[in-house]
Amino acid sequence: MTEMQNKWPSGDYSNCQCPYCGHRDDVDISVVRENHLDWRPSDCSECFGEYWLFAENGAVTVKKSDTNANTFRIHHHYDWGDQSVTIEAPSGLDTKRVAVYIQFQAENLFGDEATVTNLGIAAALVSFYGCKHTSHSRYGEDLDMYFEREKLCPKYKELMADVSLMRDDLQDFLKEHLDA
Ligand SMILES: [Zn+2]
Repeated sequence: MTEMQNKWPSGDYSNCQCPYCGHRDDVDISVVRENHLDWRPSDCSECFGEYWLFAENGAVTVKKSDTNANTFRIHHHYDWGDQSVTIEAPSGLDTKRVAVYIQFQAENLFGDEATVTNLGIAAALVSFYGCKHTSHSRYGEDLDMYFEREKLCPKYKELMADVSLMRDDLQDFLKEHLDA
C-alpha cells in the first residue's frame, strides 16, 4: 500500500499570518499531518484572534474563524492600557464606516476636539445600528478608531451626507459618551 499523499507541507510548524492583526506565529501542524486532517483551529499570540488553517496540495491557507466573522474589538491607538470594547455586528453592516460616522457626528456637534469613548462607539452601534454587546474574551477584528478615522477623513463630507446612517437621538446620546 502506497502512502496517501499528504495535503500538509513537511515540517512540524507552519508560519502563519494572523488575518486580524498581521502578526506571524509558528503553528504546529505535525498532529494534523499525521492524522490527515483537513484543518485545525489556532489563535494569534498577539491579538488572540481565532483563525483556521486549511491545507491543500502541500500549502496552508489561513481563514478567519466563522465565530469571529462579525466581531469587532473597538479601541483607540492612544488608549492607556486596554480600554477595548467588543461588539458583534449584523452581517452586511459596514461596521468600521459606521463607527467613524459616529465619531464624525460628535466632532460636527461638539467641536473638532470631541472624541467618543470606545464604550460610546460600541453603545451607539448597539443602540442605533443593530449590533450586540459580546463577551470580551471573544476577540474579533481590530477596529482602531484612530486609524479608521484617519482613513476616512477624505470622505468626511460623503459620510456625513449619508442619510441611511442618520439617527434622530444620536446627538443626545453622544453627549454622554465623550472623552473628558
Ligand atoms: Zn492577531
